[in-house]
Amino acid sequence: MTDEAAPPAAAGPFATPVAELRGVGPARAAAFAERGLTTALDLLLEAPLRYAAPPPLGDLGAAAVGDDCSVAGLVTSAQKGRARNGRPFADLKLDVGGVAVRMRFFNRGWFADRAPRGTFVLAWGRFAGGATPTFSGVGLTALRGPEDVPAALARLEPVHPRVAGVAEGTLRRVLREALALVEAAPDPLPDEFRAPLNLPALKDALRLVHEPATREEAADGGARLVFDRLLALALAARGAAAAPSPAPELAADERVRERIRARLPFALTPGQEAALAEIWGDLARPVAMRRLLLGDVGSGKTAVAAGALLAAIARGAQALLVAPTEVLAAQHARTFGKWLEGSRVKHGLLTARTPRPERERLIEAGAAGELDLLIGTHAALADGVALPRLGLAVVDEQHRFGVLQRLRARAKAERPHLLAMSATPIPRSLALALFGDLSVSRLPGRPSGRPSPTAEAADLATAFAALRAAVARGERGMLVFPTINGETAAAVEREGRAWAKKSGPLGGLRLAWLHGGLPPAERDAAFAAFRTGAADVLVATTIVEVGVDVPEATTMVVVGADRFGLATLHQLRGRVGRGERPGRVYLVPGCGPDDPAGNRRPSASSKAADAAARLKLLASETDGLKLAEADLLLRGPGDFCGVRQHGHGGALPLGEGRDRGFVDAAAATARALLDRGYDPSRDPYYGRLATALGGARFEPPDAV
Ligand code: ADP
Ligand code: MG
Repeated sequence: MTDEAAPPAAAGPFATPVAELRGVGPARAAAFAERGLTTALDLLLEAPLRYAAPPPLGDLGAAAVGDDCSVAGLVTSAQKGRARNGRPFADLKLDVGGVAVRMRFFNRGWFADRAPRGTFVLAWGRFAGGATPTFSGVGLTALRGPEDVPAALARLEPVHPRVAGVAEGTLRRVLREALALVEAAPDPLPDEFRAPLNLPALKDALRLVHEPATREEAADGGARLVFDRLLALALAARGAAAAPSPAPELAADERVRERIRARLPFALTPGQEAALAEIWGDLARPVAMRRLLLGDVGSGKTAVAAGALLAAIARGAQALLVAPTEVLAAQHARTFGKWLEGSRVKHGLLTARTPRPERERLIEAGAAGELDLLIGTHAALADGVALPRLGLAVVDEQHRFGVLQRLRARAKAERPHLLAMSATPIPRSLALALFGDLSVSRLPGRPSGRPSPTAEAADLATAFAALRAAVARGERGMLVFPTINGETAAAVEREGRAWAKKSGPLGGLRLAWLHGGLPPAERDAAFAAFRTGAADVLVATTIVEVGVDVPEATTMVVVGADRFGLATLHQLRGRVGRGERPGRVYLVPGCGPDDPAGNRRPSASSKAADAAARLKLLASETDGLKLAEADLLLRGPGDFCGVRQHGHGGALPLGEGRDRGFVDAAAATARALLDRGYDPSRDPYYGRLATALGGARFEPPDAV
């Protein structure tokens, strides 16, 4: 499964298909591909979300219920079991300095195998009291003996963004394979540029980021990757003046435009009309459109997309709408299903979950040119999906810019027109580097003219009171937790269920649970319960960041809000107040239950200051563009070059580049490299990196 975006000539180890890595069979390769990860480099660029270390050793005599701590001792019994709700667990009994301790690890049945009777372990979790001290376990390492404890306590555990269908241990093994593979690759950045900036070699940097011994190491490695991202973008921007590529002319005359407007259940706002006028103008030219539609959450981008897609279809072209998540793709499919009722436009939804017969039917109809509109996730871009008459592709909530590149493969002779839509405004200072040749349309405000929801920092008690009050008024609320990895899912349930007890702060409310760890059917059910009002409050991970459009939802509580970037918080905020009543968001800093190490103290102080500043900004500023500019200043450019806005990607330990003048250095390096005849289109590293980041256009002019 080679991706055409990787230069064929000098492919090199970075371009090794994920499927060729040891331990990756077709099923896992597909799971990675669904996330857009097709090469060794793709994998390695997914930096850990954060690094967890075990909490300090606890004093069993002094521990209070709810404390997170580690214990070290000998396993005296290890058993697997299953809770009544079917959740597997491992039950361990430990001898900790003569004291018997019990630990139950939910969803970690294999811990019983990893630490059989007689093993010396360091284990950690949350203290739950009891005559026999009992812990709700989180993590465990098998050691040779007590002498290994200090080293084990100091070891950082990278927490990688979850890849659905790939277990954490497997992911780490595969990453190790990828690291070993690129060990032999020459450093793409010549020493003379690297040395003055004090940057580690690439292979070292990747290792430091993925397997650091200390936080300093992770930061050192991260600095190199941040610089490389900026350099890749700078190279791309400088090469972006390449010749425009041919595309089909898809002019929509006034009659067609009127027909399209008539399909929508509302009149387009002047802003939407203006954006569509620009897009229709582009489509009418025999040159591929490269346009970015920027509009805050709730600004009505979907209707603009519809205007573009239907215009292309009216001219006999096929069209593609790509969304980043299944929830969002399904929502688009529902929306378009309604808008297209009674029309002849043939459309279909293709995600990883589409049942095989339907998938085959769609692929066949697509290849035969009979399918007019394909809506889907990355799965719709997989090999084997061909749309021979593809005239326009729209990429929604577009953070993984690499998607754009892949789309090229779908069109045979000509390139399709491309419209990217994003609610994450790109600060001006980076726009040029990021988008080289993209034109930008903006959607100002919301169609309703209502303001964005307000946001304020609050403590849990205030936030819960507001949530209850909203429900009492007949509105609905959301409770959001930081991340979406397996541990979070368990933690969300644990914490949430405690809150939901009769006596708890959410007692008496009807709750629905939504997180990535749930089977798809349960996810759908939770979502449906919230949509229909069978549930008052949706307790969820950032899976709700995109896609939830429930008009009755007015009140959101974000727990651990300090862990989110402004862009993500801003996106989250857009999920409430979409109906008649105004939206309110309560940002509760710290205390996210997502930390497998159980570190419940607010984040380290320098970070905490940043976080506090961010939350304050969010509360005072509702303009997404200004927020983005501010985020850039607060956190440095790396966050924008990363994929974290979307809540799925790895965030590098950044901020590093901010003080080091990386943007200028990257620009200067790009100039120097290009002046000496360096050809990024032949570079398997920077070429691919820029593609993945969306800097776009490294392909040599003759490759099309
Ligand atoms: P986003 O830009 O976040 O994708 P959506 O396209 O989901 O925003 O639109 C947000 C809400 O506004 C939707 O419920 C949509 O139906 C509604 N909407 C969009 N355009 C208009 C319009 N011109 N008049 C009234 N409501 C509109
Ligand atoms: Mg949208």
